[in-house]
Amino acid sequence: MFDINCRDNICPICGSTMRDNSIISIINKTCKNECYRVTNYIFPNDMYCVIIFNRSYHSFGKSDRERTNSFIEKKIKYWKENERYILKILELEL
Ligand SMILES: [Zn+2]
Repeated sequence: MFDINCRDNICPICGSTMRDNSIISIINKTCKNECYRVTNYIFPNDMYCVIIFNRSYHSFGKSDRERTNSFIEKKIKYWKENERYILKILELEL
């Protein structure tokens, strides 16, 4: 299963090492290419926000977590397909 928190600190889209600004109960990681960013408030609400390029996906607790996770997974797949993300990164740099 896909790990939205990127425990390995590797961007799930481009494979770069992510900047990790996490503190005890808040996970905060950003890809330097801006493809993936996660802010996860583990305590007390298990609430997270993932930003893929400029679109954000939120989960406000256990009930919509699964749905949001699979949505994020689909988006990652989309950007990796035919290496679409490379064009997007170049576009952002212009
Ligand atoms: Zn990336």
